[in-house]
Amino acid sequence: MLHERLASIYDNVLSRNPGEIEFHQAVREVLESIGPVLAKHPEYAESKIIERICEPERQIIFRVPWEDDRGEVQINRGFRVEFNSALGPYKGGLRFHPSVYLGIVKFLGFEQIFKNALTGLPIGGGKGGSDFDPKGRSAREVMRFCQSFMTELYRHIGEYTDVPAGDIGVGQREVGYLFGQYKRITNRYESGVITGKGLSYGGAQVRTEATGYGCAFFVEEMLKARGTSFDGRRVVVSGAGNVALYTIEKVEQLGGVVVACSDSSGYVLDEKGIDLALLKQVKEVERRQLDAYAERRGGALFMAGRSVWEVPCEVAMPSATQNEITGRDAEALVGGGCIAVGEGANMPTSPEGIRVFQEAGVAFGPGKAANAGGVATSALEMQQNASRDSWSFEFSEQRLREIMCDIHARCLETADEYGMPGDYVAGANIGGFKQVADAMLSLGL
Ligand code: GLU
Repeated sequence: MLHERLASIYDNVLSRNPGEIEFHQAVREVLESIGPVLAKHPEYAESKIIERICEPERQIIFRVPWEDDRGEVQINRGFRVEFNSALGPYKGGLRFHPSVYLGIVKFLGFEQIFKNALTGLPIGGGKGGSDFDPKGRSAREVMRFCQSFMTELYRHIGEYTDVPAGDIGVGQREVGYLFGQYKRITNRYESGVITGKGLSYGGAQVRTEATGYGCAFFVEEMLKARGTSFDGRRVVVSGAGNVALYTIEKVEQLGGVVVACSDSSGYVLDEKGIDLALLKQVKEVERRQLDAYAERRGGALFMAGRSVWEVPCEVAMPSATQNEITGRDAEALVGGGCIAVGEGANMPTSPEGIRVFQEAGVAFGPGKAANAGGVATSALEMQQNASRDSWSFEFSEQRLREIMCDIHARCLETADEYGMPGDYVAGANIGGFKQVADAMLSLGL
């Protein structure tokens, strides 16, 4: 339920941003949490902080023309939404996926504001991407696309202005092509202009692993707060991309047994625990679908076209995409004994799903908090670039772990302070919101 003033702000967001349903959903979730903050802090309402936060500072939409391997001209649409720079340069990834349109980029950019605030590091919020579909494209086509994308984007970004990184469809290879084109156009070796770079040219240790590792650390903290651990627990991870792979790696190191993961073709069930080396070979080296995993792994089952959320587990770690867990999936998970959920993807649980988990007393770690390790490590990459330094793997992983523990503690303390003990959604939304709102007040209108 929305507080009266917040309901009118939400109506206004709906009418100003027609059809952008994912953005509406992300805004609504934050507004539903911050009622108690407004009651305590009339200064936010007086200066219309919420209305200001809901409106991006700048939205850029551009044409991305490129030539495919057959010599045919292709045209895609590029986006960069510079949402909020109260805490630092806009920071957030680029998503290349056919589903990308302004509403997706705005939902991601909006969430990024609060997520980035929760890391405690000086980064504002932004997001970008394109409706380009990298599936089935050759490396040269991807390179030409990235070069064309950057030929427009370069004028809007910079290490003190806006710092992109990867997201779905954008990994180290794409970041390399993007950075190469930025360097070519500007004649500046400005390492801090983009993060997620390769280790040989300014990338940071643990950045590749960070979102997945961080999510596992966050869930470990949630389990610890309830007097338990990953040890021997049955875990399901959706997805088989960067976040999923490194979630599986860390969960296995922490003693959990990951019995299933998925991709757009279906899921694999592997009761002995996913063989990560084989999974990486199939997904990262061969870039094939999960049936290729099951073919080579005795006892594993490939379930074509089915949802991985039909697999009962004690810990669910959705690491694929938005709204992948419906209310029904959540009910099935609760019925199957799920005690904790850590969102590795952005907004993977539908609002009904969140309600089901919370009403059942499941420890629910929202993406803004649970998957903040990726962007936090990006901020560490910026720090290393600025000081022309590079840190060891061990030190970087230690920093990541501390940051995730701090975010966990901050969520719980904030939820307690506002009378919603154990509610990580409220804790994350209020904690992130307050920090940004206070900075905006300090900086003036
Ligand atoms: N795309 C990631 C996220 O959703 C990381 C962004 C970044 O490193 O800037 O947080």
